[in-house]
Amino acid sequence: MPRPISATLSMSALQNNLQVVRHRSAHSKVWSVVKANAYGHGIARIWQSLRSTDGFALLDFNEAILLRESGWQGPILLLEGFFSAHDLREVSHYRLTTAVHSRWQLAALAAMSVAEPLDIYLKVNSGMNRLGFHPAEVSEIWQQLRSMSQVGHITLMSHFASADSREGVKWQVDNFERSTGHLPGPRSLANSAATLWHPNTHHDWVRPGIILYGASPSGRVEDIADTGLMPVMQLRSEIIAVQNLSAGDRVGYSGRYRAEGQQRIGVVACGYADGYPRHAPSGTPVMVAGVKTQTLGTVSMDMIMVDLTPCPEAQIGSQVELWGNQLPIDEVAASAGTLGYELMSALAPRVPVSVK
Ligand code: PLP
Repeated sequence: MPRPISATLSMSALQNNLQVVRHRSAHSKVWSVVKANAYGHGIARIWQSLRSTDGFALLDFNEAILLRESGWQGPILLLEGFFSAHDLREVSHYRLTTAVHSRWQLAALAAMSVAEPLDIYLKVNSGMNRLGFHPAEVSEIWQQLRSMSQVGHITLMSHFASADSREGVKWQVDNFERSTGHLPGPRSLANSAATLWHPNTHHDWVRPGIILYGASPSGRVEDIADTGLMPVMQLRSEIIAVQNLSAGDRVGYSGRYRAEGQQRIGVVACGYADGYPRHAPSGTPVMVAGVKTQTLGTVSMDMIMVDLTPCPEAQIGSQVELWGNQLPIDEVAASAGTLGYELMSALAPRVPVSVK
């Protein structure tokens, strides 16, 4: 018998979420962001369910090539561009659209010969200070790119640091507009949060990631309550042992949880080596046999202990949902001091995944 842990991915939820994006940004095209192996869901597993998208955006060459070789003929955007001049041959061969964010990339482009001009996303650093050209140099960079025979269409892009905050977005939009307002061509600014909450940033292409997978870009589950988004990933396991504690008994490594009285607890076959966050404290929500309860003590490599007080019927073999339809991943992430992004993309390869 295999360990009773598995993840199930709902393709109808994924398609529903793309429709939510379409509905919110009806006048824009959609880059479905599938970086980090589709936020842990697996590009190979899910891309066909998103094939009504206008393009896929990611950053890993191998993932781009996988998509092409799996049969996706449409646009693919490399969000972080290419990492060395050698990569440009593959960018050209696989007809990838690439971000350009640094001067060395211009020099590499100028030095190459291409059969077909490459489409470029000129990345503007509008305030996040991660990737992109300073607003003061954007005009000059655009002119340089425009003069190159290697360059086809130029789209202006930027990325938000705090798209769940109105002020954060306004400040970056102002910086972006000041540096690009006089330049022609399409624009792409909106990530998930901006797609949901800032229609003035939608422009020609939106770039949603996390909302396609049904989690909240802000980390607050209530922020997406009325959006119609549905969770794609469900992580399930079972109770594999039951313990009956007396007052003073301790649970798990370092005995971090101490029973105050008689207490029935369950052991769940899921630990940090499956992708469950080790730093999730006692009290992190978990569903056992359809009832919400909580974790107890330190998360082990392969197991977690849970309180069975709210579900006295629970026994060995009872179903456990770590996150999914009954329990939003954002709630678990909030308890662990992180975001759904991190939990879903950390799903471990040893967890069997099925698609429904
Ligand atoms: N665009 C860029 C450039 C990104 O780096 C990301 C992800 O970090 C996204 C879009 C999608 O972000 P989100 O998952 O918040 O929608």
